[in-house]
Amino acid sequence: MQNRFIDLYSDTKSKPTPGMRKAMAEAEVGDEQKFEDPTVNRLRETVCTLLGKEDAVFLPSGTMCNQIAIRVHCRPGEEIICDKQAHIITSEGGGPGANSGVVFHPLDGPRGTFSGAMVDAAVKDPANRYAPRSRLVEVEQTSNRGGGAVWQLAAIEDVAAAARRHGLALHMDGARLPNACVASGVAAASFAAPCDTLWLDFTKGLGAPVGAILAGPKDFIHEAWRVKQQLGGSMRQSGIIAAGALHALAHHWDRLAEDHDNARRLAAGLAEIKGIGLDPAGIETNIIYFNVTKPGWTAPRLMQAMKAENVGIGAFSQSMIRVVTHLDITREDIDAALAAFRRALA
Ligand SMILES: *Cc1c(COP(=O)(O)O)cnc(C)c1O
Repeated sequence: MQNRFIDLYSDTKSKPTPGMRKAMAEAEVGDEQKFEDPTVNRLRETVCTLLGKEDAVFLPSGTMCNQIAIRVHCRPGEEIICDKQAHIITSEGGGPGANSGVVFHPLDGPRGTFSGAMVDAAVKDPANRYAPRSRLVEVEQTSNRGGGAVWQLAAIEDVAAAARRHGLALHMDGARLPNACVASGVAAASFAAPCDTLWLDFTKGLGAPVGAILAGPKDFIHEAWRVKQQLGGSMRQSGIIAAGALHALAHHWDRLAEDHDNARRLAAGLAEIKGIGLDPAGIETNIIYFNVTKPGWTAPRLMQAMKAENVGIGAFSQSMIRVVTHLDITREDIDAALAAFRRALA
């Protein structure tokens, strides 16, 4: 068993570094919702430049970014076209239905991605009053349930062109956009350009404790502020947490390459263990899904066995496990975790 708990459950498990805590402690602050917090304002400007968008609104979570974006883009009874396992479908508590009254047209493409032709086929005839009105297309960069798969820029442009053909907006859930940028070498602004709106999370690979930011056209962000107010997302001296986000952008972006190296190392090791079904060639960023194939074993059983080894992993179904590398996972942790997997499944 390890001395230290190695938590591979999610990249949300990292703790703020001493440097980040110092930046947060020393942050200049003011009343955010009166635009008087200089640190939040600096974060907004930094992200607008990074993404090439007009304006941005700082929010407590990525989920709230999606919920607000959907509410501003869509009216009740309208439809969102996205992957069948998108976070907005599987993991936001039914928020799009509860908050915006929308329905989904789920697409079944490879690893959480889809094509412009699939969007063309999904869009409803606006003259057909029996069908919901198609309004929004959503892409997830990287695709979480797709195993951290990166949307190629050409694929996003293909989907954006289809959205435009039908007068639909394109929204990107960029929870792990930084991972996609580092893995592909494509600039964040290039991925953002075909999208009307997008957001990125500071609490995933970037390693900040709180916060996400939603960016888009000025009039869109103006409306987003109204919904932020309605949902109770307007904050006060949030420069304290915005300072963590700024520190993360400056210091934790390029280092995501280490997480990707660690994920590849972990996947290669896991693929060699009897009782695990995994193709390591599919690992593009920091997320690994694999199947428990040992006779008589289930994913929850392996999760328990690994907990006894002091390693945290996530059972996502009866057979499927997810592990994620992040800021607090070293190369030595990867080797220790692999040794623990070998013992557990011996
Ligand atoms: C984590 C995640 C979210 C939600 O972000 P929170 O900050 O946890 O609310 C949305 N989409 C994807 C793809 C995610 O992985």
